[in-house]
Amino acid sequence: MEHSADGLEQLSVVRRCFESGKTRSLSWRKSQLKALQRLLVEREKDIFRVLKEDLGKHQAEAFRDEVGFLGKSVDYHIANLDKWVTPTKISIPLLGFPSAAQLVQEPLGVVLVLSTWNFPIALSLEPLIGAISAGNAVVIKPSELAPSSSAFLATNIPLFMDNEAVKVIQGGPDMGEKLLGHKWDKIFFTGSPRVGRVVMTAAAKHLTPVTLELGGKSPCIVDSISGSGDREVMVKRIIGGKWGSCNGQACLAIDYLLVEEKFTTTLVDLLKTTMKTLVSEPEHISKIVNKHHFERLCSLLDDPLVASSVVHGGSINHEKMYIEPTILIDPPLNSEIMVREIFGPLLPIITLKKIEDSIDFIKGRPKPLVIYAFTNNEALKKKIVEETSSGGITFNDTLIQYVCDTIPFGGIGQSGFGKYHGKFSFDTFSHGKPVVRRSFLTEFSFRYPPWDEDKLQL
Ligand code: NAD
Repeated sequence: MEHSADGLEQLSVVRRCFESGKTRSLSWRKSQLKALQRLLVEREKDIFRVLKEDLGKHQAEAFRDEVGFLGKSVDYHIANLDKWVTPTKISIPLLGFPSAAQLVQEPLGVVLVLSTWNFPIALSLEPLIGAISAGNAVVIKPSELAPSSSAFLATNIPLFMDNEAVKVIQGGPDMGEKLLGHKWDKIFFTGSPRVGRVVMTAAAKHLTPVTLELGGKSPCIVDSISGSGDREVMVKRIIGGKWGSCNGQACLAIDYLLVEEKFTTTLVDLLKTTMKTLVSEPEHISKIVNKHHFERLCSLLDDPLVASSVVHGGSINHEKMYIEPTILIDPPLNSEIMVREIFGPLLPIITLKKIEDSIDFIKGRPKPLVIYAFTNNEALKKKIVEETSSGGITFNDTLIQYVCDTIPFGGIGQSGFGKYHGKFSFDTFSHGKPVVRRSFLTEFSFRYPPWDEDKLQL
């Protein structure tokens, strides 16, 4: 094996494997997707265990957000791969007659996947599914902040998948930096905007394309929906979108609510009542990932003006690193909680004179990964779609967009760029190469010099 100054000799194995052409074959791709399917089925209990250890995820949540989500995704790729790899016809204008053209999908090469800790299995394996489907070789570096999940991947991927083409390398930022020092054909990064900049800077050296799946403050506009049944469903969906998926530590979690002043008391009362039944037991919500993040979240409440805005919850158990699901009304807009991504169980409500003011509020801030809005007002929906910019918009629900394979997932501006899931994952890891086939049948002399007056007449 070749010697590498940083000890990453295994990377040359992956590179040689890709160059051998092995990963391009459709049968190899399918066999690897099926191997991943088997891993998800045969190691399901282990996945539940590691997600419990790292994040206190309940098995039901772990199935919905990781195991089940991935199983559905890999099935979708297996079912559609024949179609996706088939070259598509490109129509040619008369100018090119007679000729034919096709768009042929080719793999990018050796791909680096850097993932994060909040969905440590899903955010490592969902990009892997796309990269394998598209015929690439892959190196995954999971997050050091979810050590059991990271070790699970490092142990089990080699047991199920092709060892030369798929590697898991464990480690933290130092290992991330070492890996970024190498040349890749694509870097797929999920994490913070801060490290996103580090990734893009490293990628620039080799002109490597990147996808950045970042986060930010995703707002949720809450209009005064009428009808008690609809309101009940709305409140459950808001609670699910804040505390129901990794306890607010999700890129797609609601960061804060935008509500009309006159509807605020009614909404808070509804939230409090429903939170009692859904999220009052710590064992039903994920834990805060570690001490650093626990202290970061506690410090958001240190500001006296923020602390005095708490209207529900707010109790903290330092020993168990538990923060009660907490609602705040109108914390100062320049306080940390309203400037940084919260990524935890604190939910500020910002009150507005009119619900339409939410549009200017959102436009005055970095582009979020998603805008949620609960409303039956079609004029307001139209305004939100036409006047704001975000990775996506979901009306009258939260998180659901993430699990639909037909919906592209990704950010814009500060929330990242590039998209994946379903066919969009295949495209993210492919180069659509136009192939033009001309015939020798017709030829026009005006294409070539020498140029003269006759040619100018054409
Ligand atoms: P992070 O950016 O600190 O870490 C992400 C990955 O990068 C980890 O594997 C880490 O080891 C590695 N890393 C850290 N520093 C590095 C460096 N200097 N060089 C190379 N690699 C380095 O991520 P985080 O802050 O722990 O994750 C939370 C963020 O991720 C939030 O902003 C959240 O919104 C975002 N997120 C986005 C998505 C999405 O799909 N858009 C999903 C989950 C989380």
